[in-house]
Order: sequence, then structure tokens, then C-alpha cells
Amino acid sequence: MELAGAFAELARFVLRDEFRSIRPEDARVILLEAGPRILPPFHPELSAKAVTQLGELGVAVRAGARVTSINERGVELGDERIETATVVWAAGVAASPIARSLDAQGRVLVNEDLSLPGHPEAFAIGDLVHFEQDGKPVPGVSQVAMQGGSLVAHTIKRTLAAKPRGKFRYFDKGIMATIGRSRAVAQPFGFRLSGFLAWEAWLVVHIWYLIGFRNRAIVIFEWFWAYWTYKRGARLITLGAPGTGASASPVRSAASRPPREPVKDDQAAE
Ligand SMILES: Cc1cc2nc3c(=O)[nH]c(=O)nc-3n(C[C@H](O)[C@H](O)[C@H](O)COP(=O)(O)OP(=O)(O)OC[C@H]3O[C@@H](n4cnc5c(N)ncnc54)[C@H](O)[C@@H]3O)c2cc1C
Repeated sequence: MELAGAFAELARFVLRDEFRSIRPEDARVILLEAGPRILPPFHPELSAKAVTQLGELGVAVRAGARVTSINERGVELGDERIETATVVWAAGVAASPIARSLDAQGRVLVNEDLSLPGHPEAFAIGDLVHFEQDGKPVPGVSQVAMQGGSLVAHTIKRTLAAKPRGKFRYFDKGIMATIGRSRAVAQPFGFRLSGFLAWEAWLVVHIWYLIGFRNRAIVIFEWFWAYWTYKRGARLITLGAPGTGASASPVRSAASRPPREPVKDDQAAE
């Protein structure tokens, strides 16, 4: 959802004057969601507001749209085909392969103190872990990983001091998602925010949790710059080697081949 909003903004604002023969703002961005609505962890009212805000950016949201096949010509939804050269698959985040070395099928099951069963000296936290609280697995978000890290650090200190260990209990401070400039939805501590207020809350929270004043100052400056100038620092421009027909292979070729045509300084490929 966040990426769909970012694509639409890039096409409509950032890249709009940079091509001679195409109009980037004519790019169609379609967000397909197999479930009944986007952003299922949010209140349905915020899901609906997100759809409205995406619509303002020109993103078409289709819920209940299960992708059955993807190939180089596009996406299929059963009998329907959407022709496109660009497909971004964002459904599902897999746990790190290191879980397999622990004989875990997917995520690692842990004890209440986040230690591995039979190994009180070893811990697993964050996305790697399957931990149930009140009958539901805790979500794979950074709050869970950070709180798990904090508990394990305390547990190690307490174990060294021969004190009893604590139990992990996830405290959900809320969720938020940004849709683009001045657009977001947020659900902090059960409140429901959308639009500019939610977007400001998103900015404050993400700055707050950065480590160190220097990082915060740099990010504030970069965001301020991007907001007022519509310029993004990072742009990746890649072209395949002549004759390979690989012009559409993006990241793989970026490190090994320089762009064939010079780019403007402010477009420097990162
Ligand atoms: C696109 C995207 C957007 C997201 N947006 C949000 C959001 O808005 N809010 C939110 O709360 N969460 C978000 N998340 C989820 C959040 O990023 C994760 O929940 C969080 O990063 C989990 O932290 P972690 O430390 O468990 O794992 P990670 O952050 O994945 O860190 C694990 C690290 O271990 C390294 N590693 C793996 N295997 C090995 C090995 N064998 N040896 C050494 N190192 C290894 C990996 O390279 C990685 O750096 C998002 C995730 C994605 C993918």
C-alpha cells in the first residue's frame, strides 16, 4: 500500500518533467489485495480512508482480487489479465533462512522469556519468532522486535545476577502507514487518525526512534528537502548491455554496469 502511493507520487510529481516521449503521470498504478480490504490490522474506517487517499493520488485499489499468475506480460486474476511490464509482489514477508537451521518450519517457537526450548542460554526475537499472546501470534513489526531485544538484554543481566527471568509481553503502541505527502493513516493507542495529522504523527514517531541526534538531524533535513523540492536523493537508472535484451532487468545489473547515457547530477544513480 505504501509502495503504491510512492509509485504514484514519483510518477506524478518527481519524474513528470524528465522524459521526452512518455508522460510519467499517465502511469497506472493498481493495488491488488486478495483479502476483503487493504490494511487489515487497521480499523475498517481507516482502511476506507486509505483507499480514498490512494484514489486522490490516482491509485486504483481492488480488494478481493487474488492473483493467480504473474509472467513477463502481466498479472492474471483467474480469467482476467492485467497487461503490465512492472509487477511488484509485496504479499508476505518470510522469516530468515536461519530458522531452518533450528529445525523450524517457518518461525521459531520460543519460551515465555524468548529463550529457545531446551536452550535457556539462547534467545530468538523479532520476525524470526512465533510467539502467541492472548491466543494470537504477535505481528512481525519492529515494535515487537525492539521490545523483545530489550527483554532479552534485561534477562541476560538478571541471569548473570542469579535473579529470576521476566516474561515477554508485547505492548502494542499502535500502527501507522504512510500513503504519500501529507497522507497517512494511524491508530495510536486505539485512536484513529488519517490525512495530514496521521502523516505528521508518522514523521514524529519515525524521527523519535532513530538513534542519535546526528541521524535525526540528517533525516529531518533530507525529508524537509524532499518535501519542498519534490526531489528524491536516490534514483536507480539501469540499462542492460547491448544485445542481451536485458534492458528490463533492474537491480541485478545496477552494480556491474554503468548507465549508457550520462545522467544529470541531481539524478545521480545511487
Ligand atoms: C517493506 C517492509 C516495510 C515494513 N514496514 C514496517 C513498518 O512500517 N512498521 C513496523 O513496525 N514494521 C515494519 N516492517 C517490519 C519490520 O521491518 C520488522 O518487523 C523488523 O525489522 C524485524 O526486526 P528483526 O530484528 O527481527 O529482523 P530484521 O530487521 O530483518 O533484522 C535481521 C537481520 O539479521 C540479518 N541476518 C539474517 N540472517 C543472518 C545470519 N545468518 N547471520 C547474520 N545476520 C543475519 C539480516 O540481514 C538482517 O539485517 C516492514 C518490513 C518490510 C519488509
